[in-house]
Amino acid sequence: MSSKSAHTIIIGAGPAGLACATALARAGREVLVLERLPAAGPKTCAGGIPSAALDPDLPPELLERSFNQQRIITASQNFHLREARPIICTVNRQRLGSWMQGQAEAAGAMVLGGVRARQIQAQTVHTDQGDFRYRYLVGADGSNSLVRRHLGLPLELAGVGINYQIRGHFEEMEWHLDPHRFGSGYAWIFPHRESASVGVYAFNRGRGSGGLHDRFRSWAEERGLSLGGSKPRASLISFDYRGARFGNILLAGDAAGLASGLTGEGIAAAIFSGRAAAAAILAEDGRSPDLGTLLPRHARHRALACFTARRPFGGRLLLETLTLALRWRLLNHAALEISRSNR
Ligand SMILES: Cc1cc2nc3c(=O)[nH]c(=O)nc-3n(C[C@H](O)[C@H](O)[C@H](O)COP(=O)(O)OP(=O)(O)OC[C@H]3O[C@@H](n4cnc5c(N)ncnc54)[C@H](O)[C@@H]3O)c2cc1C
Repeated sequence: MSSKSAHTIIIGAGPAGLACATALARAGREVLVLERLPAAGPKTCAGGIPSAALDPDLPPELLERSFNQQRIITASQNFHLREARPIICTVNRQRLGSWMQGQAEAAGAMVLGGVRARQIQAQTVHTDQGDFRYRYLVGADGSNSLVRRHLGLPLELAGVGINYQIRGHFEEMEWHLDPHRFGSGYAWIFPHRESASVGVYAFNRGRGSGGLHDRFRSWAEERGLSLGGSKPRASLISFDYRGARFGNILLAGDAAGLASGLTGEGIAAAIFSGRAAAAAILAEDGRSPDLGTLLPRHARHRALACFTARRPFGGRLLLETLTLALRWRLLNHAALEISRSNR
């Protein structure tokens, strides 16, 4: 089989890969995105994006809901965090993926669906549809990244997210911090237009993820939430960042371990790091992607998640204190998020 080639090959048509592809194609580079699924979009995800990190180009009709307030519940607190402006909104990942794929293709990138990368060798990606040669390779292939494995980078710090998409109208966006069940993680209710994502995120160091599902179900039962007809979907969320450039191979999004260890959010970081990878390639001087304030934020979230896993009692106290600081406005929630100015 003859091999095809491109200036940059991106493995993965998630938010990281498509943001990278759009930026490179707009700058006139030949870009090929290889995606194992037929098209971009289907991804186990609650779809919450902090408003401060929202892409200004995102058409408003892509937003499912947006919220000026959030309900936060811990062992000893139950309150609303309110702002005059939206704090967070929800998106449907299928619609976001289709829109981002459209943007990348309109810019001139080629997105090849149904192509699974199997192996990487010098300058070549071997797939089930033939070989592809590259000058630059971007691993945007999520938490189980083949590109990351090819680079020999271990994956030690990852949480697990479990999502149920439940039909019906839900009024409030809710965060339930329940350290006995979820450690430094939380269960959530993120309303969409005609459904809600109800799920859990936890960094399970030392605890089995099978047990997490049971603990989540008992939490849902206590609240009278019927998970009935909906199917659970689970996935890893990597926050094991170990660099974003390795010669002519770059990593972005979950493949680089850039999701938050504390909240499990990674959409904004994926888009931001995908664009940063494109900028580093365009500079042609071997520089690493400029991840701005994403890295210090990532390090804070990682430290909190690891501390809570190592010292459950101290971690519980710390989470209660941080929540109290949010409630009393001693800590601005925006300080915990990536803002648009970083994107
Ligand atoms: C239950 C759950 C809830 C979540 N909720 C939120 C949330 O509310 N807000 C938030 O910001 N984040 C959330 N996340 C995290 C978020 O989904 C990820 O951080 C984000 O999708 C990362 O984007 P990415 O582009 O790096 O990777 P992905 O979105 O995982 O995309 C990777 C792509 O690569 C493709 N791929 C993988 N391997 C190959 C291969 N070998 N060949 C070809 N293609 C390949 C995959 O099919 C996929 O399309 C959640 C995650 C989970 C599991």
